[in-house]
Amino acid sequence: MSNWLQIVVAAPAHSAIAGPLTYQSESPLPVGSLVRVPLGRREVLGVVWEILPDSGALLEMQTRHVAGVLEGLPPLSATWRKLVQFTAGYYQRSLGEVALAALPPQLRDLSSVQLARRLKRPVADTSHAPSTASLMALSPEQTAAIAEFDVDTRPALLFGATGSGKTEVYLRAAARVLEQDPAAQVLVMVPEINLTPQLQSRFEERFAHLGKERVVALHSGLTPAQRLKSWLAAHAGHARLVLGTRMAVFASMPNLRLLVVDEEHDPSYKQQEGARYSARDLAVYRAKIETEDATHDHGPCRVLLGSATPSLESWQATLAGRYQRLTMSERIAADEGEQASLPTVRRVDMNHQPKQGVIAPPLLDAIAQRVARGEQSLIFLNRRGYAPVLACHDCGWKSECPHCSAFRVFHKIDRTLRCHHCGYTERVPRACPSCGNIDIAPVGRGTERLEEHLAELLAGVKRPDGEPPRIARIDADTTRLKGALESQLASVHAGEIDVLVGTQMIAKGHDFRHITLVAAINPDGALFSSDFRAPERLFSLLMQAGGRAGRDARHSGASEMWVQTFHPAHPLFEALKKHDYPGFAAQQLAEREAAGMSPFGYSALVRAEARAQDVAQGFLNAAAAQAEAQQLTGDGQVTAYPAVPMTIQRVANIERAQMLVESSSRAALQRFLAAWQPVLFETRQQAEFKSLIRWAIDVDPIAI
Ligand SMILES: [Zn+2]
Ligand SMILES: [Zn+2]
Repeated sequence: MSNWLQIVVAAPAHSAIAGPLTYQSESPLPVGSLVRVPLGRREVLGVVWEILPDSGALLEMQTRHVAGVLEGLPPLSATWRKLVQFTAGYYQRSLGEVALAALPPQLRDLSSVQLARRLKRPVADTSHAPSTASLMALSPEQTAAIAEFDVDTRPALLFGATGSGKTEVYLRAAARVLEQDPAAQVLVMVPEINLTPQLQSRFEERFAHLGKERVVALHSGLTPAQRLKSWLAAHAGHARLVLGTRMAVFASMPNLRLLVVDEEHDPSYKQQEGARYSARDLAVYRAKIETEDATHDHGPCRVLLGSATPSLESWQATLAGRYQRLTMSERIAADEGEQASLPTVRRVDMNHQPKQGVIAPPLLDAIAQRVARGEQSLIFLNRRGYAPVLACHDCGWKSECPHCSAFRVFHKIDRTLRCHHCGYTERVPRACPSCGNIDIAPVGRGTERLEEHLAELLAGVKRPDGEPPRIARIDADTTRLKGALESQLASVHAGEIDVLVGTQMIAKGHDFRHITLVAAINPDGALFSSDFRAPERLFSLLMQAGGRAGRDARHSGASEMWVQTFHPAHPLFEALKKHDYPGFAAQQLAEREAAGMSPFGYSALVRAEARAQDVAQGFLNAAAAQAEAQQLTGDGQVTAYPAVPMTIQRVANIERAQMLVESSSRAALQRFLAAWQPVLFETRQQAEFKSLIRWAIDVDPIAI
């Protein structure tokens, strides 16, 4: 007798396969089993999603057989399947796409023998050995945060200033969970694992007593074999602690009791292709369903979010009482145990500075003083390359990219013009391609030019040892080679650099103890951006960058954060000066509430790409008109705005358009999107939109 199974497989995006497919199997298989099934001419990995009642009506002839079962592998849990189902529904993607993207691809190729070998328990099971790590004394704020966290059940937001010791709170919370229950598992998520090697080693050290292979990493930087190994360890329950990036939110962890999301405001928690999920939001949802899971009798699964500048969504949730708020406002000094203070913020009013100067004289002076004292400075500018554009002043020619609606950036080091959107690169022309003038010149400044400029400006300054200052740069160009970032950071830590120039890359995560000056050269762009989240990102970046300065108590009295701006009285800078995140959040939330924007309103973007802009926009407008005709927008609860070109309208010769859809009700927006999706598929089939290349829905977009 056959068993009829609904199995999800990875379907190509926008194919006809939206839901699970029916297969038959000789032996009964539990829901959640991992299987190999034929799909077309290939054999693919699948997950048993549902067992169909035995039905003679099904034609055996048309139903293919399960090709193999991954034996010895426990089925994926009901909670895991619920997480996948929710993600697919909420972010408007197919179940198979989400489910299979969450599994290591190499699973498919494992034979039963290989699988059995890999599933063997780690040899020495020392999970009950006591920790031998020597713990440092907690600050009163840390002690209070841990105690408060223990007595609540809501999602918790740890609002902790840079340097207030958030990591120690994560470590203690994790240790508590792991000690209380010998099977319990903890998931710790970080934005970018390569930027936080210190965090990873702290977790590994602290939990080394659990035994080998008990702490595993899960992120896209792993080889497929390493990823498989970590995944199997988590799935089998061997791994007690998983440290990973956003993809780790889908790790199969049968005894998950705590999720930690460090730097929860970081945009990299939002996936930017395929299913555009927010790993932070899913972590909160996952804690909820893990708690509800009836098979657990261990009490709730908790989620702990942490940030010095929380996302306004999480902050608003604490104001509304949905999340618990834990506050740590004081910095602790790592060495002496004495309290370190936050840097003094200095605003330079660029309206009163020499016109051509990139670095205002008072700032240059402050940098020179640091060099002379043997201290380090960090100067950041959010634009890499030498100059953002090369121009001819005779005829007005500019280094536009022939394939994008953007300028190619001048990179002096190899004399190229490079497009940062499509990658198109050419040698710098000897003369203006349009009029032949040989006097073409760079306009504006990137990190490469700033580095060169600083070297000139500081040429007369001497270090305490009488040597000239050592200036270095860290950005995407200098760190292209594997290991380059690590070695460059190491030389900063070792004190081999006096002035470090870089992009926002250096504002994140690093602990530069000997830097006593941080300067933002040109942060004004974000103040008046059309993207309503730009001020939030700028504030968080500046707070983080400032937090890099003077973590060492020895220096922190004198550490400074400089901001060059044409708008020194802007409320954002006023709040920055006071290190006042709550004040900044209050201004922003008031503006967003008035405008009905997140977290007071809900939105989705539908993006379309085509060779011609009118096709991309036409597709979106036609689908919206159809939604209107079918009355999908309810009684005006959902608004679909007319399609517009994206800010960078053309990339690699592809025209891009987007449509904003808004509602004051999350549920109404979800209902609309679910009903609208088939309409979008149908519209795509119309002859006039045959040339459309692709379209996608982005729910809760983070950049507009
Ligand atoms: Zn010219
Ligand atoms: Zn381009």
